Amino acid sequence: MVLLVGVTRFELATTRPPDVYSTGLSYTPFFKRSAKVHCLLKNSIYYFEFLFFLWHALHCIHVFLLSENLNYLNLPSKILEQAVNELSQFPGIGKKTALRMVIHLMKQPEESVGSLAKAIINLKTNLQFCSICHNVSETDTCDICKSVNRNKRIICVVKDFQDCISIESTGHYNGTYHVLNGLVSPLDGIGPEEINIASLLKRVNENETDEVILALSATMEGDTTSFYITKKLKDKSIKVSQISRGISIGGELEFADEITLGRSLLSRIQVS
Ligand SMILES: [Zn+2]
Repeated sequence: MVLLVGVTRFELATTRPPDVYSTGLSYTPFFKRSAKVHCLLKNSIYYFEFLFFLWHALHCIHVFLLSENLNYLNLPSKILEQAVNELSQFPGIGKKTALRMVIHLMKQPEESVGSLAKAIINLKTNLQFCSICHNVSETDTCDICKSVNRNKRIICVVKDFQDCISIESTGHYNGTYHVLNGLVSPLDGIGPEEINIASLLKRVNENETDEVILALSATMEGDTTSFYITKKLKDKSIKVSQISRGISIGGELEFADEITLGRSLLSRIQVS
């Protein structure tokens, strides 16, 4: 925008204004001189304006490029730099936030930092995925799969273990889970073979299963995955269901989008 205005000003500056003194013989040499001075002054103002806009545009480009390189920090210590680099690997954490975290850690007692380091190492050394449902577990089989109080004939299919935590938090589910560890996404090159669908089908084939609940995201990838699993389980004599989609609790109808509202109407439930 600034450049556009600048270029327009430059065009105006390079276009000579109409010569008022050349249009008739009534002008005296005095007017000729004053008209020339006027034109020179006017052109100079245009040039200065153009230079100002050019400087402003270059300044904006400089600020933009600087903001792109905000991650560059000139740290005084290699140890500090290494800690910042490691922490900035976390999703959503830039170099500046990582530096704030490092400064916070430096202010903590040694025991506290040691405890944090131990907890992080434990994540990799003592935590694994359940051999049955692929949920996180400290042993080969997770507590849910081991529990005698859970209904093993119902399997809830989820994208990742965070979804298990969310569903468990509701307190309304007593079956088991199957964590896919992703969703089918042809655009990202993720096919059914890349996620835990084969183990789900094997599990259904080898164990008595009454129902498979598809608790996947209401996205194109979630729907594609649900469609694929439904197709694969079509010939089995088991119930395949999908979690309801619609208006959230406390949500206003006027703020709901057309697709959500449409799905709510289609999946309405009888109340009397
Ligand atoms: Zn398990």
